[in-house]
Amino acid sequence: MGSHSPEQAECLSVAIIGGGLCGLALAVALKQRNIVFKVYEARSSFTELGAGINIGPNTLDAFRLIDDGLGEAYLDMAARNPPDRQDVWFDVRLGAAIDGHGDGERVASLMASPTGSMCVGRDALLQLLAERAGLVDGIGRERAAFNKKLVGLEGTAGGVTMSFEDGTFERASVVIACDGIHSAVRRLMIDPESPAATPGFSQAGVYRAMLPFQKLETVLEAQMARTSQIFPGPSGYLIMYPVSETTMNVGLWVWRRGTWPHREWVLPNQRSAMEQNLQDWGATVRSIMDLVPDPPFYAGHYYHTQPKSHWKGRVCLIGDAAHAMPPHAGSGAGQAMEDAYVMAEVLSSAAEFDPTEARVAAALSAYEAVRRPRYERVVAASVKGMHDWSDLYDVPVTEQRLKDWVELAKNRFDFIWKHDLAGDASGAQASMRQNAVPSII
Ligand SMILES: Cc1cc2nc3c(=O)[nH]c(=O)nc-3n(C[C@H](O)[C@H](O)[C@H](O)COP(=O)(O)OP(=O)(O)OC[C@H]3O[C@@H](n4cnc5c(N)ncnc54)[C@H](O)[C@@H]3O)c2cc1C
Repeated sequence: MGSHSPEQAECLSVAIIGGGLCGLALAVALKQRNIVFKVYEARSSFTELGAGINIGPNTLDAFRLIDDGLGEAYLDMAARNPPDRQDVWFDVRLGAAIDGHGDGERVASLMASPTGSMCVGRDALLQLLAERAGLVDGIGRERAAFNKKLVGLEGTAGGVTMSFEDGTFERASVVIACDGIHSAVRRLMIDPESPAATPGFSQAGVYRAMLPFQKLETVLEAQMARTSQIFPGPSGYLIMYPVSETTMNVGLWVWRRGTWPHREWVLPNQRSAMEQNLQDWGATVRSIMDLVPDPPFYAGHYYHTQPKSHWKGRVCLIGDAAHAMPPHAGSGAGQAMEDAYVMAEVLSSAAEFDPTEARVAAALSAYEAVRRPRYERVVAASVKGMHDWSDLYDVPVTEQRLKDWVELAKNRFDFIWKHDLAGDASGAQASMRQNAVPSII
């Protein structure tokens, strides 16, 4: 990790737009590297809505590379599978009976050694990151500004001027957009009429619920009620994983072909629609979802089209702003953490000198060259994931079909879990040195 004295680093100032998981992970990484930054968040505080976030071994590596203590702090708070099953990512069980195999039967355990499934509540993770970025109290509060919704960007000599909805302006030498799937920066960077400017419907969505283990134990045996599981079923799949010592996050993903007709992405009170979806499923999944009286339905969206580049001038998109993906590989936040680490490393190299436009461009271009092929492969696997998890029952399930399906599932995400992220960062730094204008070296 490159580290700078605060005097040297003052030349480069980084504006982080958006204080979600990605923005705050970048803040931690920049703080560790003594790079000046400020987070601009549209909301009035750092808050995450929604349930738990499940991460794999690659994300734990990213946490450790961002900040030595962050990985251990995450491990301390993460909910995991029961002690004898901790390297299991998910058990796979049948969502409906087939010839020779009963409904709910375990047909495979997908491994993600050494950590298996690790999960925390979204808000708990966000608070951990805010704390480690030094943004919670004292002087660090000056590095965070709330109610700051970015609405405009303008390149000016030596930097970028940002304008906010409240009529104020601020300047920085680099702007890193971590403003999520509805990214304003993305729309400012590329033609707002282009299909790449807005996310599209994934043709699938999820009925979501948080269920206490105690409640689940009324329909499942105790170990099963506490272990992460996926049930492939007719035209969908059920996923469940522990998010705390007491609670399971449960989601029933189903296809919803066609365009999404509503303005909102979340529809409340979807019991009767869910019952229709569950018609051909077996008793195990039906009994789990019977515990959810009136679930909301969340319509999955992602960027179907990408612009030629994710950076322009002194501005770069990272996290969901660059590569929002459906969660079928459980990897959106993980990729955001990887982005934050590599971005901090290239900015750390750029911070050794005056942040001229050419040096910033060299850093952002080196970042994109190593990160984009990786996250685009993860996006493709995530999109395909909905098909992979839900296509088992599309044709009659023979013994051979089940065997082939399980074999494919076992290693599908190895490339996500096992990755040399530190190698990516040093590769980006090397390419900055090679390709940059001579004055950068
Ligand atoms: C149903 C579901 C389940 C998921 N499960 C997983 C999982 O198990 N594992 C996993 O790794 N990933 C998962 N993901 C993906 C993960 O949630 C995202 O990839 C991650 O939250 C992206 O973080 P982000 O910081 O880039 O964006 P966000 O979390 O969206 O944060 C963006 C921030 O920017 C702020 N903002 C927006 N506009 C502006 C503006 N104009 N000015 C200033 N601030 C602004 C917002 O208020 C927000 O705080 C899941 C996603 C969904 C939808």
